[in-house]
Amino acid sequence: MSLCVIRGLILKEVHVGESDKILTVLAKGLGKMSVSAKGARRTKSPLYSASAFTYADLTVRIGKKHRFLTAVDTINTFYYLTKDIEALACASCILELADKITAEDMPSDKTLFLTLHTLKRLCDHRLDPRLALPLCELKFLQYHGFAPELDICVRCGAEHNGFMSPYGTLCKKCAASAANSAAVSDTVIYTMRHILANEPPQLFGFGLEDICIQTLSRIVSDMTQTHFEVELKSKKFIDSLNMG
Ligand SMILES: [Zn+2]
Repeated sequence: MSLCVIRGLILKEVHVGESDKILTVLAKGLGKMSVSAKGARRTKSPLYSASAFTYADLTVRIGKKHRFLTAVDTINTFYYLTKDIEALACASCILELADKITAEDMPSDKTLFLTLHTLKRLCDHRLDPRLALPLCELKFLQYHGFAPELDICVRCGAEHNGFMSPYGTLCKKCAASAANSAAVSDTVIYTMRHILANEPPQLFGFGLEDICIQTLSRIVSDMTQTHFEVELKSKKFIDSLNMG
């Protein structure tokens, strides 16, 4: 058995037995991994702070089959999220998505970096919670090779006429026969180009009118479902908040 320190964001915790947790950690340079935290639900446990949303240096003992947490050195708990229900709902959705789309033990530092920047901005009130989720969804799609076409009709290569499908822009003719397409404004297409062309922190330097946020959320959500084929439980919570 050996000890190592991993720096990572805890994406998920599952309670096991009376006082244990299994943590899902997105670790810098290493990717997603499961870590067992024995006794971590006891308030006096030195591992008590190891919970979802915590970014920390985790000392881990590597066993034959499992990794065991032995110490936690917290860097950021993103505590403000617990004070803002909208920000918390969006952040929960982003962590759930990051968990579902990353593979075990495959370095996913871009996903980690973007998620950390987004959580920090939500805590500092420097990012509209309604923009946070579509922004992360579109970048995650791009990181996995699913960036939509935004310059020409993705079906026939002609000039697009402002219609959008889960694969990208369409001309009027192709949109008429597409199962899942909708007209979108130039502003939304421009915003998507900006998101695809930039990484944090430059990525966040824009605002958007409410109507455009709604359109962007809807079309990027369609893209997420089409390409990742994931159902996000926490998204139902966002819908129930009716954040407009
Ligand atoms: Zn076309």
